[in-house]
Amino acid sequence: MGEVFCKEESERFCSSDIQMKIAVLGATGSVGIAVMDIVRAFPNLLQPVVLVGGSNVELMQKLFIEFKPKRVGMLFESAAEKLEKNLHVNVYSGEGALIDIWRNYDDVDAIVVCLSGISGFKPIYEAVKFGKRVFFSTKEALVVGGDFIINEIKFKNQLMPLDSEHWAIFSCLGLKNEVRRIFLTASGGALRDYPYESRKVASPSDVLKHPVWSMGKKITVDSATLMNKGFEVIEAYHLFGLPLENIKVLVHKEGYVHGMVEFLDGSIKALLFYPDMRLVIQEALFYPMILENPALPGISFGNKISLSFEEPDFEEYPCLGYAYYVAKVGGNLPVILNAADEVAVSLFLSGKLGFGDIPKFIRKVLFHFPVEEVNSPEGIYFWDKEARKVAEEVSKNW
Ligand code: MG
Repeated sequence: MGEVFCKEESERFCSSDIQMKIAVLGATGSVGIAVMDIVRAFPNLLQPVVLVGGSNVELMQKLFIEFKPKRVGMLFESAAEKLEKNLHVNVYSGEGALIDIWRNYDDVDAIVVCLSGISGFKPIYEAVKFGKRVFFSTKEALVVGGDFIINEIKFKNQLMPLDSEHWAIFSCLGLKNEVRRIFLTASGGALRDYPYESRKVASPSDVLKHPVWSMGKKITVDSATLMNKGFEVIEAYHLFGLPLENIKVLVHKEGYVHGMVEFLDGSIKALLFYPDMRLVIQEALFYPMILENPALPGISFGNKISLSFEEPDFEEYPCLGYAYYVAKVGGNLPVILNAADEVAVSLFLSGKLGFGDIPKFIRKVLFHFPVEEVNSPEGIYFWDKEARKVAEEVSKNW
């Protein structure tokens, strides 16, 4: 069925008398914690039958006791063993915690994937192929394997983004042939007000102070390089099926406008909300219902609010340009970009790479490879491994 470009009345998945049974993969991460907050706020509408965490045994133990899921998993073997010992229940791990835990049972209506990195590809791909509804925050899955995932979409609104920009655009969309351009907004990250030259020598602690969102470390660094926005351009490209040149990025420091759609007559629709992931999660899970939630902060107009928009400088933010480039060329390049960025960010966070060297490092890894087709999902893992090998070599000689 192709891309997720439709804004007609969708079937109501939830109404006050129907409970959606969900599997939450990545329940102990920052987006997962926000998902569990929404579950807590609407216990009659959402039932978490499966919870899967990463390595945080303590938090998963608390979630297990509070939500009483039917099945529980941890991505890491050692964490699974520890949880099993503490709770005296069977704990899935590894691949089993990503796939078997929901696919081998018929009690799951929707999969909520809040994993980070390439590990999110397989469960999203398999769930879409299997005909399950999928809510996902793992944008890397669409970056590395967007074509494979989108080709498997079976019904309207099967794949729903838990990413504020994409959610805003989804909410504002009209018919595809009425849309001229879409805009993803970017806060600009922690270093946006630094002069360009001093940005290059910023430390991890400078970069981790995000001005708008509180998120994991990797994505916070990606926000400062605009790599995150680049990945979001690729995510939007797959989700909405628009030509790349009609997908634009604007730096918007205030963080209230999350995405905009410009129509053929020049009019623009935008979605504004106080930056809080719980709003995105709630609206997506209950779409098209809008429900009251007193825990969500609104925008206060008590103080004067100005909204500013600025086109990003591609020379200052080379990573954004790389993303457009790999999206255009396709093949193995998006996989390599994703892997190269992951390695570069972890080197930066461990003090082995300067902030200003992140784009140079990525460039070196990216342009090491000839462009090749990726013909199967297995090819994604092949190129991911190859890219990491080369990234390791590059880091040794840095
Ligand atoms: Mg986002």
